[in-house]
Amino acid sequence: MDGFSLKVSEAVCLGASLGFSCICYYVYRKSRKTLNKLDDAPHFNIDGKLRDILKVTPGACLQYAVIEGAVQPVGEPLTSHFQKEFVGVLQKFMLREHRLVWNSLSRTWTDSERLLHQKVNSVPFLLVGSDETTVRVLCPVQASGDHMEITYERFHQVNYGLGDIVGQYLSGEKIKGQLETEEMLKVGTALTGIGELVLDTDGSLNLRPPANGSPYILSNADFETLRGDQESTVGLWKALAIVSALAGAAALLWVGRRYYNQLKIRWEREEERREFERFRAELPRAHGGVANPNQDEDTCVICLTQPRDCVLLECGHVCCCHSCYEALPQRRCPMCRQHIMRVVPLYYA
Ligand SMILES: [Zn+2]
Ligand SMILES: [Zn+2]
Repeated sequence: MDGFSLKVSEAVCLGASLGFSCICYYVYRKSRKTLNKLDDAPHFNIDGKLRDILKVTPGACLQYAVIEGAVQPVGEPLTSHFQKEFVGVLQKFMLREHRLVWNSLSRTWTDSERLLHQKVNSVPFLLVGSDETTVRVLCPVQASGDHMEITYERFHQVNYGLGDIVGQYLSGEKIKGQLETEEMLKVGTALTGIGELVLDTDGSLNLRPPANGSPYILSNADFETLRGDQESTVGLWKALAIVSALAGAAALLWVGRRYYNQLKIRWEREEERREFERFRAELPRAHGGVANPNQDEDTCVICLTQPRDCVLLECGHVCCCHSCYEALPQRRCPMCRQHIMRVVPLYYA
């Protein structure tokens, strides 16, 4: 509609809620799909039967399956650099810098973290079941899920002189220090593995990232806990999608209401103009139209050319022509600023 424009705040509200609900819905659908896949995945114990099942499965491969077993290295395990009694099959070092950054919008210092260095070591490992049957875990670095345990953590605080402190306040950035951590997947950990199970030609069992794009998960939590976590993630994204969609609908309703009000005013003005024209057409011709015998005081105070031909009510002022009245930005009398309830044509008898 011409004359109706979206305010910046309305456009931002509409765009943000629409964009946010799309993102939430997308993540919700994705996590829902993962949950469905988890529900459909068959569970197996690591024992002799598993090999028999895979032998009769087409392609000797199960696309998505759940197994649970204890971690055991194929060769020599990795030893923790900080505590010699910890041995594992995956080891991750991280050095992160923690700093405070001045946020000029909220006028507070906010924490910020930056990864300075990361190194991952791994050795081949197996999951061992009840009867010494083993499943080799391939590409464990690609797996998601909590399977690492923190074996070392130390924060190295930075000490500053007075000059540094002044410099930090001026630059708006303060380095707090560096956090050094070591995480390991320890030998003997009970691990839940979810991925593609294959029986190799040499008779060994392998767990690897699924070829169909399903998430590859290694976790030290049991399957029920994993499923429960996934279910709460699904619920959270669903709730966020609903809330943002409702916010979008509310914004749309607000804009619609404003549009309707504007349209209503236009209709009312149009109706009023028609009524005015009707009035004028019905004026007795014998009276010689609307002209005032006193011509000098007759011109409209706004355009100063056309004769005054309408009465503004309730104040009763006769000060402008009807076209100038229609062009008024607000329905207020140009003489006394009173609200104009109605306008009627002026004529002299
Ligand atoms: Zn005028
Ligand atoms: Zn007035």
